[in-house]
Amino acid sequence: MNYRHIFHAGNFADVFKHLLLARALEYFQQKNKPYFVLDTHGGIGYYDLQGDQAVRTAEAEQGIVRFAEYSAEEPLAAAYLNSVRKLNEEQDKLRYYPGSPVITSEFLRENDRLVVCELHKEDAETLKNTPLGRHKQVQILAPMDGYQAVRAQLPPAEKRGLVLIDPPFENTTEFDDVVSALEQGLKRWQSGSFAVWYPIKDELKTAAFHRDVGALSGLPKTLIMELNIRTNDERKGLHGCGFLWVNPPYGVVQDSEHLLPVLCKTLAQDKGANFHSRWLVGE
Ligand code: SAM
Repeated sequence: MNYRHIFHAGNFADVFKHLLLARALEYFQQKNKPYFVLDTHGGIGYYDLQGDQAVRTAEAEQGIVRFAEYSAEEPLAAAYLNSVRKLNEEQDKLRYYPGSPVITSEFLRENDRLVVCELHKEDAETLKNTPLGRHKQVQILAPMDGYQAVRAQLPPAEKRGLVLIDPPFENTTEFDDVVSALEQGLKRWQSGSFAVWYPIKDELKTAAFHRDVGALSGLPKTLIMELNIRTNDERKGLHGCGFLWVNPPYGVVQDSEHLLPVLCKTLAQDKGANFHSRWLVGE
């Protein structure tokens, strides 16, 4: 396990992922009933963008720093940007970035619940020692394999909510692991909302992933949303990413029509930037 999210925190992929995550949570809040979130690959929660590792890649400069400047007035990004601003109230410039469990914790009401997993031993310790470790509605299972948690934690008593699957994709089996996790998860919780983030590195692998998920029997409605910030050039690192979202909240589907162009315009690095969305399984 070599992947450490600190090298990538706040990059374009985090902005894409966390903005849509925040929108989904806002929609879950619209009903009085409690909701549940399982974050299978939690990371360390809080990221110092001025720390050595983050400075070395400076990926946040082209991600959250740019987005916070150019989309500061975007109404659909207000709650997401607020959770970023909250961490930086005492800073002259943006320094701390919230990971997915921290963002989710911002949206928990009294009876909502978050379970977070992290497998990397050191990162698991770091995560447990953050304020999330003392949050009454947050349970941190770490070190713990997030795919096992899909089997063990579903279906949740709340009967509504989200599973965020955000692996590092450093293993060649990761796409297959995700497909099995979805299969297991849906067997247990057919009405659950499952958001899988994935990197776009190799179009053939992405197509195979879509095909394999599409072949799952009884797959409920599933939306694919993708953002490419530049022309594919391996020397420059990750150029695109996507969400494969089973049972996406209706509001997220609507919002994505507006937000994908906004993300693309704000985060584009060359003329190859583009976005698209399509139903893998329609309504
Ligand atoms: N979701 C986080 C966020 O948005 O802030 C970022 C997660 S990062 C992309 C992936 C994380 O998954 C890493 O911290 C890695 O150590 C962890 N990880 C890798 N394999 C795992 C597994 N099988 N179960 C749980 N965590 C795992």
